[in-house]
Amino acid sequence: SQKVKDAVLIPRYVRVNEHKTTVDKAIQAFIKEGYTLEEPRDDLSSLSKLTVRRDIHLNDLLVLPPNSDLHDHPMYISGELILQDKASCFPAHVCNPAKGSHIIDACAAPGNKTSHLSALVRNTGKIFAFDLDMRRLDLLKRLTNKAGCKNITPLHGSFLEVDPNDPKYAQVEYLLLDPSCSGSGIISRLDHLVDDGMYRARTMNHTFKRKQGLNHIHSILEQEANGTERLDSLAEFQIAVIQHAMKFPKAKKVVYSTCSIHPQENEHVVKTILASNEDFVLGSRSEAIPTWSRRGLVEECNGDKDMAESVIRTNPSEDYTNGFFVACFLRKEATTETTT
Ligand code: SAM
Repeated sequence: SQKVKDAVLIPRYVRVNEHKTTVDKAIQAFIKEGYTLEEPRDDLSSLSKLTVRRDIHLNDLLVLPPNSDLHDHPMYISGELILQDKASCFPAHVCNPAKGSHIIDACAAPGNKTSHLSALVRNTGKIFAFDLDMRRLDLLKRLTNKAGCKNITPLHGSFLEVDPNDPKYAQVEYLLLDPSCSGSGIISRLDHLVDDGMYRARTMNHTFKRKQGLNHIHSILEQEANGTERLDSLAEFQIAVIQHAMKFPKAKKVVYSTCSIHPQENEHVVKTILASNEDFVLGSRSEAIPTWSRRGLVEECNGDKDMAESVIRTNPSEDYTNGFFVACFLRKEATTETTT
């Protein structure tokens, strides 16, 4: 299918874990191994073997050719490199928390975005990382320990049950929300699925094993329930998570993401939130990776171009990354403060 074909073309993205190394050091290590450093570029359609380049949008991301297998690489084993698809690195950058701040990662496991947030604040402040699924939370604990994160408090339970007025969360200013979604944007290769999408397979009650091959991935993709009923119930949950996040008294930035390409889980959710919550507005394009050119679908935003401009979309068949969506809400009184 087109999806599986697209998947094979996705470059191997490598997030440099700045708790353990720097982008320059990682590049030097690749060069020592015989890689050639190439200029960053937009067109990633034909990357030569053993080449490495910086990503043009994200400063902690490297781009290697699609068939690079780094699972046995010493820098992966040591936690210096994290194998994470490009689009899934957007939310933490959009969140862009201040050092020392308190953050909630509401649906956090297996923790790729949690460890990214932790790296961005250089292990300062506090990150409360919730997940409903204990086994997945255990995985988060393992992965964030391996990554050298020291500012994460993993918490088992439903984010929706967390009391926003609990004094523990009185200082929380940033919330990153990456709730369960249809996963319709995921087209990664086999090894990406293991790193980034294991949760997805599990959530859908599939036990995913690395060696099971493309056919199995294909069948997972095919089994995605994209029916209206399922999308409606996912959207209901996603809206509830955002609304709950907005109840935290000091929340000033709420970042919402999905790995879905369906407007029902993306632009429509944003519209519902804006219509029902007067305290928050959408941050402008400058808050959300302004250099990324693909924005929301105007026709799904009731023709509101500003709204569409403010949110991010990725298109799996054209952008060399999984399908993804990110929106950034700002508390009205915080708008001026965060844009200066
Ligand atoms: N943010 C994660 C990452 O980057 O590694 C991926 C999160 S995954 C898309 C969604 C997660 O939400 C799943 O781990 C699921 O167990 C969790 N979840 C579902 N309902 C939840 C709830 N009510 N409260 C907290 N977590 C929930």
